[in-house]
Amino acid sequence: MDLESLGEEVKLNIRKASSIDEIESIRIKYLGKKGELTKILHSIGDIPAKERPRAGKLANKLKNEFSELIKEKKEEITKQKSLPWMDLSLPGRKPTMGGLHPLSILSQEIQDIFIQMGFSIVTGPEIETEYYNFTALNTPEDHPARDMHDTFYLKDGRLLRTHTSPVQIRTLEKHSPPLRIISPGRCYRVDTFDPIHSPTFTQIEGLWIDKDISMADLFGTLDLFAKKIFGKDVKTEFFPSYFPFTEPSAEMWIECPFCKGKGCSVCKKRGKIETVGAGMVHPNILKSLGYGEFNGFAFGMGVDRIAMTKYDIDDIRLFFQNELQFLRQFDDSKL
Ligand SMILES: [Zn+2]
Repeated sequence: MDLESLGEEVKLNIRKASSIDEIESIRIKYLGKKGELTKILHSIGDIPAKERPRAGKLANKLKNEFSELIKEKKEEITKQKSLPWMDLSLPGRKPTMGGLHPLSILSQEIQDIFIQMGFSIVTGPEIETEYYNFTALNTPEDHPARDMHDTFYLKDGRLLRTHTSPVQIRTLEKHSPPLRIISPGRCYRVDTFDPIHSPTFTQIEGLWIDKDISMADLFGTLDLFAKKIFGKDVKTEFFPSYFPFTEPSAEMWIECPFCKGKGCSVCKKRGKIETVGAGMVHPNILKSLGYGEFNGFAFGMGVDRIAMTKYDIDDIRLFFQNELQFLRQFDDSKL
C-alpha cells in the first residue's frame, strides 16, 4: 500500500472510532512497535536513494498527524463520556395541556345564551337534604320520585341531588322576586350505563319569577334558546306534560335537525326530539315561600342530551370514557 492510501485509511478509521479501546487498537495497528507505519519507517533505508528523502518526509509527517489525531480523538471521547446524554438536534416536546370537556363547553354556551336574556348564574351543593330536593319542590313523602332507588342516599339521610331545582328554592329563600336565574350543575340518579343512560348527568335549570308571567313568555324564551343552539330555522313544538313542581307543565320538542322532520335514526323516526321540560311554577311552592302574589316559569334540560342531539352522538358513555380522539373534536385550542 502506498503512503497516501495508508494515510487516508488511518484518518478514516480514527474518525469512525467511538471508544478509547478502538482508538488504542488503531494506534497499535499503525504506530505500535510492529505497526504498519513503523515498519515503513524502519524500511526507508531499503528504498532507492532517489525516492528516499520524499518517502521519509511523508512517513514522518503521517506519523505526527496520526499521533495528533489519536490524541484529539481520545480527548473528544473522554469529554463526551463526562457529559449527560443530550441530543440538541431533537425538536422540543410540547407541554401537554388540558382542554375543556365537550359538556363544559356546551354548558357554557347555554349559560351565555340565557345571560344575554338577563338571567344570572347560581350554583348549589350536589349533596342535598330531602327537603330541598323533594319536599320544597311539591314532591311529598309518598311521591314515587322519592323512591330510594331513584337516587343515592348518604347514611345521614342526605342524598345526591336528582336535579338542580334545589338551587331555585335556596335562591328564593335568600332573594325575593322578581328574579331570573339559571342553575347549571352535576346531578345523579340510580341508572346503570347504557347508550342513553348514565348515573350522573349535567343539568341546567332556569327560573323566572315576576308578576303576570305567562306560558307565552315561557314558550318565547325556550324557542329563542332552541334557535340559538340548533340554528335559527329550527322549529319548536310544545306538548302538555307533568312535573310535580310545575302546573301546567310542558315539554319542548325540536324538529330533528338531521332529517328536518322526515324521521331518521337519531330521532327514532319521530321527526322531532324532546329537548326541555318546563312549566309554570306550582303556586303551592311560591305560596309556601311567601311569594303568593308572584308567578313565573321554570325549565330544565340535560346538557348531555342536548349535546347528543347537537353533535349527533349516539352513545352517552362517550362523554365519560375520556378518549382523547373523541374529546379533541370539541376542543377549540386543538391541543
Ligand atoms: Zn331525525
